[in-house]
Amino acid sequence: MEKIVRMQRLNKYFGDHHVLKDIDLEVQSGEVVVIIGASGSGKSTLIRCVNGLEGYESGELVVDQQKLAPKGGNQKALAAIRKEVGMVFQQFNLFPHLTVKENIMLAPMKVKDTDKSAAAGVAMKLLDRVGIANQAEKYPAQLSGGQQQRVAIARALAMEPRLMLFDEPTSALDPEMIGEVLDVMRELAKEGMTMMVVTHEMGFAREVADRVIYIHGGQIVEEGKPDAVFDNPQNERTQSFLSRVL
Ligand code: ADP
Ligand code: MG
Repeated sequence: MEKIVRMQRLNKYFGDHHVLKDIDLEVQSGEVVVIIGASGSGKSTLIRCVNGLEGYESGELVVDQQKLAPKGGNQKALAAIRKEVGMVFQQFNLFPHLTVKENIMLAPMKVKDTDKSAAAGVAMKLLDRVGIANQAEKYPAQLSGGQQQRVAIARALAMEPRLMLFDEPTSALDPEMIGEVLDVMRELAKEGMTMMVVTHEMGFAREVADRVIYIHGGQIVEEGKPDAVFDNPQNERTQSFLSRVL
């Protein structure tokens, strides 16, 4: 199996604050890895390192065969990685002045030189896939949160990423909209997309993850198959975290 992500003894600081401590983490092609942990434990920083949104101080990081050097890496590797790695944030970060369809067309046209009609075709196919083809000509503000997040997923998919990163994609949504976004993610996982997902949705984690990683204080303190981590956590910090959230 091909490794998409290989992190070795990765350390990251914000000033004096040691935020990621000797992280060893590999993600194989087709794998769904869910990262759980308390607020402030380093989950966002960890996945932001994977697409070079954060640099790091020491260790090794290889993403899709591109070596990302510490402290931001070289620009060529960064550009290559950004083409191959899609990211979906808690706040949807859509461009407010573009229609839904234009939001999805933008990156393929700018970064991949896709021509306009081809980009529009891809956008419509993806909107259909996330169930909102009828919203294509609207602006983001006219959509519900759940619909906007599905647009954000479609926008990331338009680049045909080899890896998708999700950072709490349902945390900003009203409860009734969480399911529709998780459904799209579940579908993606089923189709074999390689995914790293930070989430507090433990039901989703149990059902969809191949592996669950529990991070505490910038360290991976436990990882394993979802049933093992949820039903029989070995570390007392994991036990205490799960007893609070389950
Ligand atoms: P999580 O996503 O698990 O809530 P984060 O990765 O966002 O945690 O943050 C980990 C730690 O790093 C926290 O203590 C947070 O305050 C700190 N941190 C995050 N981003 C920055 C930043 N840009 N500058 C300084 N400290 C930061
Ligand atoms: Mg976070």
